Amino acid sequence: MNPFPRRHALRLGAAALAAPFLKLRAQEAAGEKKKPGIALLGLGDYATNQLGPALKKTGNARLAAIITGSPDKVPKWQQEYEIPDGGVYDYTNLEKIADNKDVDIIYVVTPTALHADYVLRALDAGKHVICEKPMAPTPEDCARMIKAAADRNKTLQIGYRLHWDPYHLKLMDAIKTKEFGAWQAIDVMDAGRMNDFTRQNAWRVKKDLGIAGALYDLGVYCVQAALYSAQEHPLKVTAKSWTEREKEFSEVPEHWEWEFEFSGGRKAKCQASYGKNGNYVKVQTEKGEIAIDPAYGYRGQKGSTPAGPMDFPPVFQQQLQIEGQVDAILTGKPSRVPGEMGRRDIQVIRGIMEAAESGKAVEFGKFEY
Ligand code: NAD
Repeated sequence: MNPFPRRHALRLGAAALAAPFLKLRAQEAAGEKKKPGIALLGLGDYATNQLGPALKKTGNARLAAIITGSPDKVPKWQQEYEIPDGGVYDYTNLEKIADNKDVDIIYVVTPTALHADYVLRALDAGKHVICEKPMAPTPEDCARMIKAAADRNKTLQIGYRLHWDPYHLKLMDAIKTKEFGAWQAIDVMDAGRMNDFTRQNAWRVKKDLGIAGALYDLGVYCVQAALYSAQEHPLKVTAKSWTEREKEFSEVPEHWEWEFEFSGGRKAKCQASYGKNGNYVKVQTEKGEIAIDPAYGYRGQKGSTPAGPMDFPPVFQQQLQIEGQVDAILTGKPSRVPGEMGRRDIQVIRGIMEAAESGKAVEFGKFEY
């Protein structure tokens, strides 16, 4: 299915998905049941510093359980989020969460290569799933995850928080409505020079967990931004990758550059790197440039359109994201960020890898989303 120009509606039995939650809503209204409960799986940096705090603010969901391999983290989380002993799991007894009626959704926040296994186990436990970006190493992994969710009548959504950021929403809307005319060229970069290779960076430069380094971790934002700036799928890609700091980047390339070709020969130039700095999306339109710079952080976006500066009040992206994702589950409305979108992006990323490897243009062919 093609989400451009009209967003495709995910029809995984929306009514069937909504039914239990409509009941939940009615119970909630009657004061019988608490807000839907989320279990965070993986209590690393992102869960601790962004998702946990976001869940303190979400109006339609609450943190109900934690799943962690680090017992030392448990007391602080239990205290801070009032999590009962029955809401604490580790990776070996995760299946028991099937019996926890307080948990409706599992949010998977582990290193990339582990997403698929945990998502499948979470679905097997009968829960809806939110999976962090990038979805999984290969499109085949993503397909297994999507099928498992469909087979169990559960939703699977990706943690693409920028679909709730006002700067990125304005960009998408301006392109969709052709407010400044058609787009002509796109330039995107997400890069941050990595100097500390310990803690949460350690797995990011390992092939078995981080797959292709910056291309997955940061490049997925470039793929996303290029595609929602273009509002269409790319036709082909040329790419290159290289490494300057050979010792630190012995398993994955340090730098990635690629160029998408879209309809009418229009191009999007993209860069993702752990060796440079840059954080923007710039879209040339018939009436001038739409730019967000910086673009991909949790806050502090700055942007402009040919009509002048964009000036939006700060938002808590992760709060809005989780609220939006829970709402999609509650109402059965199509998710803005379904698993199918995550799979499409991994298909694009694998095309970039193939182009860099072969030195030749890779044609994408058909996308299923
Ligand atoms: P992190 O290293 O800080 O946390 C990873 C967690 O997974 C840790 O708690 C770790 O103990 C756990 N884990 C479980 N099994 C593991 C194993 N075999 N090896 C290593 N760790 C294991 O990383 P992070 O920065 O929190 O990233 C986690 C996920 O969140 C990644 O998918 C990442 O791409 C994503 N992320 C998303 C955003 C965003 O803006 N959406 C930002 C940062 C990270």
